[in-house]
Amino acid sequence: MNEQLVQNIQYRRDVMRVLVSFTCIGGLLFSVVNFYRDIYILAAIEFGFGIYSVFLWRIIPSTPNFSKWVLLYIIPCFLVILYALYLPQSSEAMFVWILTIPLVSYLLIGRQQGFWVSVFFIVLGIIVYHWRFIDANNSFTLNTAISINVCFSAVMCMAMAHVYELNREKNEQRLLELAGTDKLTGLANRLKLEDGFQHYSLLSKRHNINFIIALFDLDFFKNINDQYGHDIGDKALCHVADFLKNNKRESDLLARFGGEEFSLLMTSSDLDEAYKHINLMREKLSQHPFICNNHNISITMSGGLATFGKDGTSLEALMKKADARLYMAKENGRNCIVTQDQK
Ligand code: GH3
Ligand code: MG
Ligand code: MG
Repeated sequence: MNEQLVQNIQYRRDVMRVLVSFTCIGGLLFSVVNFYRDIYILAAIEFGFGIYSVFLWRIIPSTPNFSKWVLLYIIPCFLVILYALYLPQSSEAMFVWILTIPLVSYLLIGRQQGFWVSVFFIVLGIIVYHWRFIDANNSFTLNTAISINVCFSAVMCMAMAHVYELNREKNEQRLLELAGTDKLTGLANRLKLEDGFQHYSLLSKRHNINFIIALFDLDFFKNINDQYGHDIGDKALCHVADFLKNNKRESDLLARFGGEEFSLLMTSSDLDEAYKHINLMREKLSQHPFICNNHNISITMSGGLATFGKDGTSLEALMKKADARLYMAKENGRNCIVTQDQK
């Protein structure tokens, strides 16, 4: 997939590296403190976690199994927090670590997994806390106040992390869409076309079927700019983009390739069928003038077709072939489609 159109998870690696750095220092520090407090099992676990964090710190920047390592970090880490909270020697202050669970989960594993991991460990954390620290000798109102504080702070941390991650995801999605969209026409741009091409070619190789690329160029478009001005030229381009969008098949990917050139990735593997469809579009466009400020502007297009497999397997090679045939269509008098090389 095109790297610029892939969700960015690099920040998660950075967050994880900061967290494991803290875990390493904290783990080693607490292991010494707890050793001197005679809490040997916890001290040993914390020491082991400190060493494990050094290993994670080294592999996180480059591991292809990042998601797996994140789970292998946060789940044992949260279990250690619960265990420490459960120990008779621990104080109520241990609960502050439970509040870090939603923040860490959402930042490292995203909204969906983060939600379930947070719910699971927060509920466990609240149960352990109540079991350890709610005292039957306290007054009912004091116990109620403690319960409300503990539950409310945990749920509030989780809600904030959830809303933050939801908005971050939406913004990222919007940026990805913008990066793949042509500003003038709203069609896919070249970046999205490259992305679609990779997707089509993978499918094509897996199912052993071909697909077709069409490249269109508007005829004498410069004359429209010269005669009516660049702004009307822009509107004419949008008119053609809308026309092509409304007349392509749903499964085909239409993109503005550049200037007044458009390309269509067609899922059809039959060249004759693709030609018939495109030729019909060309004919309809010529009968569908652009009407603006009482001007009736006739627009035609020429096109060249190339078949994946037969004419090449890279987007560059196929576009070169389609472009050569488009050039032939121009030579043949324009407003036509060429599917084969001509002698
Ligand atoms: P033909 O393709 O038939 O040979 O003639 P043409 O006049 O269309 O020639 P060509 O394709 O080389 O020219 C493209 C013209 O399209 C040049 C430029 O003025 C115009 N153009 C390219 N991009 C834009 C755009 O974004 N807006 C407007 N208004 N015009 C554009
Ligand atoms: Mg051109
Ligand atoms: Mg042109």
